[in-house]
Amino acid sequence: MYTGALQALIDELGRLPGVGPKSAQRIAFHLLKVAPEDALRLADAIVALKENTTMCSRCFNVAEAELCAICSDPARDGGVICVVEDPRDVVAVEKTQEFRGRYHVLHGALNPIEGVGPDQLRISELLGRLDTEGVKEVILCTNPNLEGEATAMYLARLLGPLGVKVTRIASGLPVGGDLEYADELTLGRALEGRREVQA
Ligand SMILES: [Zn+2]
Repeated sequence: MYTGALQALIDELGRLPGVGPKSAQRIAFHLLKVAPEDALRLADAIVALKENTTMCSRCFNVAEAELCAICSDPARDGGVICVVEDPRDVVAVEKTQEFRGRYHVLHGALNPIEGVGPDQLRISELLGRLDTEGVKEVILCTNPNLEGEATAMYLARLLGPLGVKVTRIASGLPVGGDLEYADELTLGRALEGRREVQA
């Protein structure tokens, strides 16, 4: 529809989550109009993101070094691991200021229909951390929806026999919802009210 570069940008923007064709056009024309330095700041931010951001080799959170900021913080309690689905959930739990342990990011939840099995998640890496880090408690902090509950149950069965305390965040979070949309107070209470899971 448009000439080369403009159409290429519209196509790329249209591939972003939540951006429809109309929005893609509007953003592209906006960038065409603004001063070059303003448009290039966006380009630079994307380049910097891809060049400098990696995954923590221990917990698979977003990191700018071998270890993420939380794993490299000596003040964090290595004896407690909070298991979440997504790096955005780490931010959600951090905001509650209720948790001083470390995290483990699964990068998804079990979803057989979409072909996500245990091997697609960072589960074996979680098991590998139990001994090496002297983990005493694993808090299952997956989303309170179907996939999140199934993942929590699967992990509870897997971890139970390994002699580590396994807890699940309390209900009270909106069912079917995403952790990242829960407010800090609710999520903080859910963490505080976590219960031991009997596998
Ligand atoms: Zn980490």
